[in-house]
Amino acid sequence: MTQIIDGKARAKELRKELKGRVSAFVEQSGYPPGLGVLLVGEDPASAVYVRNKERACAKAGIQSFHHQLPREATQEQVEEVIDQLNADAQVHGILLQLPLPDHLDAEPLLLRILPEKDADGFHPVNAGLLAVGQPRFVPCTPLGCVDLLKWAGVEIQGAEAVVVGRSNIVGKPAAQLLLAEGATVTICHSKTKDLASHVGRADIVVAAVGVPEMIKGEWIKEGAAVIDVGINRLDDGRLVGDVEFESAKQRAGGITPVPGGVGPMTVAKLLENTLEGAIRQEAEKQQTV
Ligand code: NDP
Repeated sequence: MTQIIDGKARAKELRKELKGRVSAFVEQSGYPPGLGVLLVGEDPASAVYVRNKERACAKAGIQSFHHQLPREATQEQVEEVIDQLNADAQVHGILLQLPLPDHLDAEPLLLRILPEKDADGFHPVNAGLLAVGQPRFVPCTPLGCVDLLKWAGVEIQGAEAVVVGRSNIVGKPAAQLLLAEGATVTICHSKTKDLASHVGRADIVVAAVGVPEMIKGEWIKEGAAVIDVGINRLDDGRLVGDVEFESAKQRAGGITPVPGGVGPMTVAKLLENTLEGAIRQEAEKQQTV
């Protein structure tokens, strides 16, 4: 029978585990881990994401520092807040909520976040560390994907893994993580010829495209593990992934639903990254004492 890989249940378990680790950290260091969150503008979806992240922080015992700038904030004003967060010893992870209003240039702002506090793992220094096999901060969504595969008991080493999508925040880091786990990895994208044949030989499929149900159930190899990162809102209001769930479920050994699959894992991994940032920064402090 096909296993529905329940990201909600796994994320709950992770957050519980994390609460214990945060308490141990507070006991040892005398202060809580801190996440600095910067939201520019009033995009309703972003505001909901930020609220969820801050709520999850509070539940785990992580302090969050909320900074809100108006939609018309200048590049310099955003830089100023990032500089403040970089300099704040209570902040161990920084999150700049994307997307930013159109007049702002996200790239230099993400670069301005200290790599040591880059809880989202988007800074090129952290991307480079992952690429050379010395991961520090790794993007949260790909971390969640690999965690779910392991939790579901999927053998990654030696598996044929096909990642559809090559973005810096999902596809590429997901491929790097699978490679580090010993999978043979193919990355597909919009220029890939015959996507169906690549997907069809995969033991593990990670779909991170952003096109509703574009990966057809009939492409999936019998028994494959399917991790669907896509979150797409249809005109009728339904939320669907990048994979045709019902037909893929007939063939897959395990599959994540949308919603309730990868989504909840992203927040859990952000909390974990913040705690790990705090642990590393505390260890460095001890070394310099
Ligand atoms: P991007 O738009 O940055 O990247 C999409 C990728 O899909 C690109 O590499 C693009 O190829 C590729 N692609 C587009 N069309 C096709 C096609 N027809 N065939 C094959 N490949 C194609 O998206 P993200 O990586 O940021 O996000 C992907 C999805 O994951 C979205 O639905 C997003 O909402 C969701 N998401 C979910 C998260 C969660 O927490 N669950 C977190 C982050 C994202 P090319 O490079 O050639 O253009």
